[in-house]
Amino acid sequence: MGFYKVLPSSLRYHGQDALTYSSSDQLSIGSVVVVPLQKQEVPGIVVSKDTKPQFATRSIIRVVSPDPLPPALLDLLKWIRNYYPAPLGSINSQFLPSSLVQTPKKEPEPVKSRAKRPHPLPNLTTEQKTVLKTIAGQAKSGSSWLLHGETGSGKTRIYLELAKQTMSEGKSVLVLTPEIGLVPQLAGVFSGALEAPVSVFHSNLAPATRRDTWTGILQNKGPQVVIGPRSALFSPMKNIGLIVVDEAHEPSYKQEQAPHYHALRVAAKLAELHKAKLITGSATPGVGEYYFAIAKNIPILRMEKLAIDSPHPKPDIEVVNLRDRKTFTRHPYLSDALLKALQATLNSNEQALVFLNRRGSARLVLCQNCGWQATCPVCNLPLTYHHDSHLLRCHTCGYKQTTPTRCPSCNSTDILFKSAGTKAIAEALGSMFPKATIRRFDTDNSATEKLEKHYEAIVKGDVDILVGTQMLGKGLDLPNLSLIGVINADSSLQFPDFTAEERTYQLLYQIIGRIGRGHKPGHAVIQTFQPAGPSLQAAIKKDWGAFYEAEIEQRRKFGFPPFYHILRLSVARKTQKTAELAATDLRHKLGADHYKIQIVGPSPAFYEKSRGSFHWQLVIKAKDRAELLKIIASLPASCKYDIDPINLL
Ligand SMILES: [Zn+2]
Ligand SMILES: [Zn+2]
Repeated sequence: MGFYKVLPSSLRYHGQDALTYSSSDQLSIGSVVVVPLQKQEVPGIVVSKDTKPQFATRSIIRVVSPDPLPPALLDLLKWIRNYYPAPLGSINSQFLPSSLVQTPKKEPEPVKSRAKRPHPLPNLTTEQKTVLKTIAGQAKSGSSWLLHGETGSGKTRIYLELAKQTMSEGKSVLVLTPEIGLVPQLAGVFSGALEAPVSVFHSNLAPATRRDTWTGILQNKGPQVVIGPRSALFSPMKNIGLIVVDEAHEPSYKQEQAPHYHALRVAAKLAELHKAKLITGSATPGVGEYYFAIAKNIPILRMEKLAIDSPHPKPDIEVVNLRDRKTFTRHPYLSDALLKALQATLNSNEQALVFLNRRGSARLVLCQNCGWQATCPVCNLPLTYHHDSHLLRCHTCGYKQTTPTRCPSCNSTDILFKSAGTKAIAEALGSMFPKATIRRFDTDNSATEKLEKHYEAIVKGDVDILVGTQMLGKGLDLPNLSLIGVINADSSLQFPDFTAEERTYQLLYQIIGRIGRGHKPGHAVIQTFQPAGPSLQAAIKKDWGAFYEAEIEQRRKFGFPPFYHILRLSVARKTQKTAELAATDLRHKLGADHYKIQIVGPSPAFYEKSRGSFHWQLVIKAKDRAELLKIIASLPASCKYDIDPINLL
């Protein structure tokens, strides 16, 4: 009888270390087993041999796979435990699908290649050749590259070429994509072009499929390709030679639940453990990532030319000033220019998308006459109006002030702004264009229509006007779309957060890019309070450099990432008062403990009241991330945290 330490993979496991189990089998480190945990059977990973303990042990139920997990994956698990502290059960669960406890009815089929003979790929453009040459030349010195390529410049072509090279060296390729919805399309491209087996791996697979895919990837001997969202990082691949992170700026790469990891950081660690190449691709790289690439000498590869010439490369972009009320004669949020463009689109039987900034429901104090806006003197972020107390408040640092009754700049009394919702906009459009088919879709509200449900009707062009807060999926090709109207392009209306400007730039870039790629000459009408705003102007000119310079300066000036590491702490209580008290208490405790940190707040969370509780938060800033890890270790269980948050809402 042998004894083994096993990490149980279950969210119910709250212990801080591996548990000891007995087994009559000889097990190697990294073996995946099924163990009893309380009254359940859960998968687990054997992490070490143990001596016979003093206490009674339960025995391992069975061994899931004769192959142990690759050593690099075990090292990754160890690293995550230190870098993203979280309940151990939640970390282990990233690595093992829970369906591993079910015994398959038949042996899972080995992963296999789908294409008999790979399709020929389009010729490389001059720019693509240059990029590949640069990578080949630098492959020895650095193993990481940031591929900054415009939409349509052919980043996927680069990935495929590198994948082919990697496979010819007998190594495997991991490709990450931000949305599960984009996985099938990308998998099609890879399996069409490569001879190696291509697996898709994500959490939406049926449990049995997920288990069989997982086992297939583990047991596969030769080079293979695995494609999936961030969770694919934990698939049991051996011998990885290349990791691709596509659309690397997308917020979905950050996990909102514990462990709060960011896929880019984990991908970099995994690449290091495998000594693999890492390529992160984006048309609009994250400001923080770009800054680090420069600081750490990670080569930035630029691709600016369209791989395939578009018949309509220059979209027609019209900017409407929301302050110029003379141009809003028919509706307070729908400018005459937008309505005219909509009419023209309907007349020619084409499709229009009317876009509202997500989370545009915060009440902000903004002069509708001159554009003055109440902002926090500490964080430079918009203040939010609180109806109950009639106060203006910063949701990042807690700064508050009384609400002015007149604009300090022009003396107008028209200073409160609340953006319209999709419902109001869709209804207004319905009465103005009674013959048009109008569909509304939102990301935030699950009760309203999801875009996917009407996918076919939308693609066929049966829907005339789409109204939504969700940008159309990148893989969605709408041949009939010719107009995009943006109701409110201003980042400050989107949400009061340090990443708002960056998100706005990315969004506008995407909107303008989509219109420019269409089958029809495209037209965009962008309504804004700040027609000369740097993000908007940079997006229109596709001048990413100008945007980056302006944005990084703001981050530096107001002490946000990448210049500080951030930890967000939040407490929930039954009343506003007790939540504020608990957050204040926590602040005093942390302040007394001599960490090298800055404590910002307490402040009410942006979503102050949810699930019957009031939420207050503290934002901790540190130059040294290790200080934040020390704080996490000392937190009371009732305090929630997010390390390296990508927003503070
Ligand atoms: Zn004013
Ligand atoms: Zn503030």
